Amino acid sequence: MAGGIRRNVFKNKTTSFNPVGEEISSPENHKTTVQDLSLISVSTDERNAVPVGSAPIVSSYNDRIRPLLDAIDRLRHLNIMQEGIQLPTIVVVGDQSSGKSSVLESLAGISLPRGQGICTRVPLIMRLENQLNPQPEIYLEFDGRVVPTDEENISHAITAATDEIAGHGKGISNTPLTLIVKKNGVPDLTMVDLPGITRVPVHGQPEDIYEQISKIIMEFIAPEESVILNVLSASVDFTTCESIRMSQKVDKNGERTLAVVTKADKAPEGLLEKVTADDVNIGLGYVCVRNRIGDEAYDEARAKEAELFETHPLLSNISKGMVGIPVLAQKLVQIQASIIVKCLPDIIRKINDKLSTNMDEINKLPKSLASLAEAMTAFMHVLGCAKESLRKIIIRGEFDEYPDVQEMHCTARLAEMLNQYSELLKSNSKENDLKFSFLLDEIRVLQEAKAIGLPNFLPRSAFLTQLQKKVKMISYTPFEFVDKVWNYIENIVVRNLMHHSDNYPQLLSSIRRSAQNLVAKKKKLSIDWVNDVVEMEKLTDYTSNPEYVATWSKLMSHQEKLMEIVRDHSKPSEMHIDGLGEVDVAHLRSNVDIVQEAFDLKMRMTAYWKIVLMRMVDCMALHLLFSLQNLVNKDMETEVINELIGPQGNALQRMLYESPAVAEKRSRLKNSIKLLNDSKDVVGNLMDRISGDYD
Ligand code: GDP
Ligand code: MG
Repeated sequence: MAGGIRRNVFKNKTTSFNPVGEEISSPENHKTTVQDLSLISVSTDERNAVPVGSAPIVSSYNDRIRPLLDAIDRLRHLNIMQEGIQLPTIVVVGDQSSGKSSVLESLAGISLPRGQGICTRVPLIMRLENQLNPQPEIYLEFDGRVVPTDEENISHAITAATDEIAGHGKGISNTPLTLIVKKNGVPDLTMVDLPGITRVPVHGQPEDIYEQISKIIMEFIAPEESVILNVLSASVDFTTCESIRMSQKVDKNGERTLAVVTKADKAPEGLLEKVTADDVNIGLGYVCVRNRIGDEAYDEARAKEAELFETHPLLSNISKGMVGIPVLAQKLVQIQASIIVKCLPDIIRKINDKLSTNMDEINKLPKSLASLAEAMTAFMHVLGCAKESLRKIIIRGEFDEYPDVQEMHCTARLAEMLNQYSELLKSNSKENDLKFSFLLDEIRVLQEAKAIGLPNFLPRSAFLTQLQKKVKMISYTPFEFVDKVWNYIENIVVRNLMHHSDNYPQLLSSIRRSAQNLVAKKKKLSIDWVNDVVEMEKLTDYTSNPEYVATWSKLMSHQEKLMEIVRDHSKPSEMHIDGLGEVDVAHLRSNVDIVQEAFDLKMRMTAYWKIVLMRMVDCMALHLLFSLQNLVNKDMETEVINELIGPQGNALQRMLYESPAVAEKRSRLKNSIKLLNDSKDVVGNLMDRISGDYD
């Protein structure tokens, strides 16, 4: 055995003293409180009184921390981190060969793989557990397996396990390997050793080794719950350390960073100044150590370390609270206890939150259906929900189900489309370049509609010809509009039906088809209707709206002025007509006889066209609302039922088979709920032991 911690340190373990000298009772009858934990402190004087070589690394305060650590270790073991719940962790980082593994070895009194290049290729979770039994118990856990080993073979066992996880060669992996060391005299600590940071890949390492390692390190040190144990070699300038650069990225002021300075024996010059100056912002302080060199036994190494810091002319000036592995162990134990206490309430909250979301989700999953009757009930439920939801968004304009999805706010989108439609009708029927061709078109039509008869009757055929011409100009606009509206509605209906039936993936394709058929039918009806509307407008001119006569009279009030200008060639030939704008009438002076009639024709058309456009928009609005209402209230049900459970459909039979996706989701949720419940028990038991107020 390499380590030489032979004395049973727990002979007096049931009694210890807090700083005021009051007796602290044994863990068996004492409930640890937060206040108690803050009493855990390092007293180097006490330690120095113990003969070198037989001192335990940490005193019996361990017993109070043990339950906390056990609980966290159990949570880690349960793999609660896979639920996204971070656990308080001491993470060891450092540049390559800074001495990370050596520090862990010193703390554990065991040998870890050491050597040139990277030996630590996977995160190594090292769990140290003090025990009374002088016979150490050491095993590895990975990949769901437990592999027992012993002090002589530990290095070999770790290397073999690493090869299994990360492959032979020099590759790395973020799958952790757990090493449990139960041994008399070790501090109760759980730490994670990470691959050392290296800028330049050595032979056989992947090109992006730096990126790979940084990613793993970041993953471990980024969570607020991690304490960063930054291992720095005394022989380097701390400000140039990669590990410092990385930990500063996630912990700028070093509030959760503790520095261990190794190789104090190799570079004692200026060490005191370096740790006092604190150029790199280490919030939790520095501890300088001297690790085992060569084949020294562990107790021998501790004795040499104590002697070094006691007698070395430079190193002996460093405060005793900042040197030696025992001090480091004490500090770590204390820090570990306080982060656990600090994180526990949050962990409990997160477990509860996760549990309730998962319960909600599992309750929303479809029950497995046993009979056709059950399937029918479930189907009607889906249909009912979809119908109600469509009624809300399409008809009532309530969009609480989709507050942030603008597309699903149908009433508003439809109103917008209708406005656009109205604008389009207006712009599509506008005659352009009226100024110099004013009334020419009307004159032409009147000349062709001439008949043998009295002159002062406006021929109706002339009016109808003009009307048909205008209707033709806009006839494609309502078709385009209904096309656009129904495409939009199809998307909404499909999306909504899919959303409500996503628990039955086996039905999705038929449901989509039925929604498409349904909308196609509605669209066809709309197109037929538009056809009729356009034909009706072309066929005849009628309105009972008094607005027509009112507008016409207003427009006709310009007639007198127009005739004056047409007749009197000395007057300027331009004039303004309300609603039509500026016109030039010079070209009409050669055609005086027919101008009056042409003007009348144009003004009738202008007044009437306003009515036509309004009618087209109004009727369209009513038609749409009527069709949508029917779609939601009647047609959808008929169509979907016909398609899915009508003579051709076998949806109910299909519903009896649970889809693999749902089965998978159910089992995933079940596992997760079990894990969370187990975790809750672990934490619950702990809280029973700790009588503290963790609100
Ligand atoms: P890692 O790559 O960070 O895990 O570093 P190792 O623990 O493998 O140490 C790298 C080298 O530094 C090894 O040869 C160690 O023996 C040596 N070393 C570590 N700590 C000390 C120390 O405190 N003093 C001396 N002299 N050498 C040390
Ligand atoms: Mg190492």
